[in-house]
Amino acid sequence: MLDLNTPIKFVKGVGPRIAEWLEQKSISTVEDLLYYLPFRYEDRLNPRGIGELRPGEMATVVAEVRNSAVFRTRKGMPIFELVAGQGRSTLKCIWFHGEYLRDRFKPGQLVALYGKVEESWKGHGLQINQPQFEVLDGSGEGEQLDLESVKDAGSLEVGRIVPIYESAANTRLNSRWFRRIVHGALENLTAEIPDGVPPALCRRLGLIDRRTAFQQAHFPPEGEAFAALQSFSTPAHRRLIFEELFFLEVGLELKRRRMRARPGISFALTDKVRDAVKKILPFHPTAAQKRVLKEIAEDMQQPTPMRRLLQGDVGSGKTIVALQAAVIAIENGYQVAFMAPTEILATQHYFSARRVLEDAGYRVILLTGSMDDSLKRSVRRHTAQGNLHLVIGTHALIQEKVEFHNLGLVIVDEQHRFGVMQRFKLMKKAEAEPDTLVMTATPIPRTLALTLYGDLDTSVLDELPPGRTPITTRKISDKRASEVWDFVRKQVKAGRQAYVVYPVIEGAPAEQQEMEFSAEPAGSRSKTGLKAALHMYDELHKKIFPDLRVGLLHGRLDSEEKEETMRRFKAGEIDVLVSTTVIEVGVDVPNATVMVVEHAERFGLSQLHQLRGRIGRGAAKSFCVLMTGGKVSDEAERRLNEMVRTQDGFAIAELDLELRGPGEFFGTKQAGMPGLRVANILRDRKLLELAKAEATRLVQESDPEITAEDRQRVMQYLRQHWQRRYGLVEVG
Ligand code: ADP
Ligand code: MG
Repeated sequence: MLDLNTPIKFVKGVGPRIAEWLEQKSISTVEDLLYYLPFRYEDRLNPRGIGELRPGEMATVVAEVRNSAVFRTRKGMPIFELVAGQGRSTLKCIWFHGEYLRDRFKPGQLVALYGKVEESWKGHGLQINQPQFEVLDGSGEGEQLDLESVKDAGSLEVGRIVPIYESAANTRLNSRWFRRIVHGALENLTAEIPDGVPPALCRRLGLIDRRTAFQQAHFPPEGEAFAALQSFSTPAHRRLIFEELFFLEVGLELKRRRMRARPGISFALTDKVRDAVKKILPFHPTAAQKRVLKEIAEDMQQPTPMRRLLQGDVGSGKTIVALQAAVIAIENGYQVAFMAPTEILATQHYFSARRVLEDAGYRVILLTGSMDDSLKRSVRRHTAQGNLHLVIGTHALIQEKVEFHNLGLVIVDEQHRFGVMQRFKLMKKAEAEPDTLVMTATPIPRTLALTLYGDLDTSVLDELPPGRTPITTRKISDKRASEVWDFVRKQVKAGRQAYVVYPVIEGAPAEQQEMEFSAEPAGSRSKTGLKAALHMYDELHKKIFPDLRVGLLHGRLDSEEKEETMRRFKAGEIDVLVSTTVIEVGVDVPNATVMVVEHAERFGLSQLHQLRGRIGRGAAKSFCVLMTGGKVSDEAERRLNEMVRTQDGFAIAELDLELRGPGEFFGTKQAGMPGLRVANILRDRKLLELAKAEATRLVQESDPEITAEDRQRVMQYLRQHWQRRYGLVEVG
């Protein structure tokens, strides 16, 4: 017998070697295997007769291999053609570049073919291009199958709705293999399996039991609606998804409670403090800024640590609000740490903080990893002695073991670039728990924010400062680059500045390059066919704008060069700044009103939105030109059209989420979002809300139907599963 904790290597059909492969897929126990759900299903209940197929439909056909061969088109592309038959009807299947299939099929084999039925090229009969396929016999044991006998024998392959699994790297671990292994595991699984979801909850929400859910998610019962399966909304799916989200939410709720329970600092908001906070304002705050500051100030007065997320689109004016919060802390005799994701951004915050705070007598310092050691030592010493009020820096702040004399407030800018753990590391340096203010410019739909930042309260800056004119955005092919450069020159002559952004420095994508120091020469287009910043800088500076002052900024410059370039751009000593995405986040130069993004088709939506957020910061009209170079996929087309259509960060984020899925959107690891196995926080938003509500009731003990024993089981389950997997929950 197997139980959920049985190591995978004891499952029939899995030896030590296969177990190793499976572990790479994070499948190391029977439970992990059962959570490896099919990603889609095929209706092979009544496999279609070839004669019934209609062009345009998706269909599964089970038929016999008649013959196969490789052809070449006139241009020399190899095409693999397979003819499969049922009695006298035949169906053709083709695979472009399909030479690798040459020896895959043998006449007489039974195959399942799945794909879109189309009219044959040659005008008669039907064919499927590039079908998904499965050879149903010839598994090496010499067995021969035919359609009638597999149906009778209760086959896992035909005559039912069949689960399709993602194959493991090794081709032997295909869908068919998983089907057998999972089936065997389910057959040998103990009748009772542990279930942490309280029975009262299952009853109330109509959740089926866990064992049945596993069984039916893998092998749907007769009569299961196919559409429900495809959308992962069968009772089996609902049960497994709810369960996963429920434990996630309980974990987050516990974490939230634990944070609340810690002793924090109660900052006083005397008239003197209020005056000081107002005095630093260089402009009238927007109503949204006032409201948000009030929310923050109220938190800071509380004796429990503040944990607040400040969401605000690019340019909404988060920085000044953060600096006002800093003043509250400093006036109360505490120090403030301000962390930014890049040196450029830290440096910029440093200059704007000094401008706003120094006149009032607050001492502000910058600390970055690339500063020379003696300077760093001195900053650290003064920080430890409490001589400095506001310390601004990058990760170096954390990594270089800064000791604060009495840290009262931690401000984290652009949260989505940080892991959650980094947020905590810094906080541990303080004796008492400091308050935390996290700022993000990635607008996140509310439910998702609640889960991602489930341990944070949320404030939203939903109003842009006055005097902004909307940005005009255009999409244009780089065949018309010369017109774009003329436009840039005209704007510069009118006293404005421009950014020109490239996806790469030279060869490989920019991000990799930040780390690699390859010094290969680059042509006008790099090996990847992309125009690159280094070369285009030359081009722009020597040939296109010989009369203008052109600067260059990218991640490989050392930080002094970067700072110097930014300073000159800010001071108006550079007209056109050629750059990679290092300027994506936070850079603030109001006189820069033109942004040209080359190879805009290569950038993600949120990235384009962030980039565009660099302009439209002053009173003058701003222009964003999205230049495409080369092939633009349908999806890229959608992205660019959305950019042209709207400037609303929420709308853009929603589409981005839809196009990329939550994992990519949030950068799972970065956002600290635990990898979910069956749930998808986008698709399953409704269940997420339900799970959150129930989790809160359980933790707050406000549900009379849930017993102490139930709660204990939930905690035990969390401790065993979630803590091991994610280190997310430390259940006390
Ligand atoms: P973000 O929210 O993207 O970090 P910033 O804090 O950098 O935005 O603010 C963008 C620009 O708007 C800055 O130049 C800032 O000085 C200016 N700004 C912020 N609030 C106001 C306001 N209430 N009135 C006028 N300008 C403002
Ligand atoms: Mg900012």
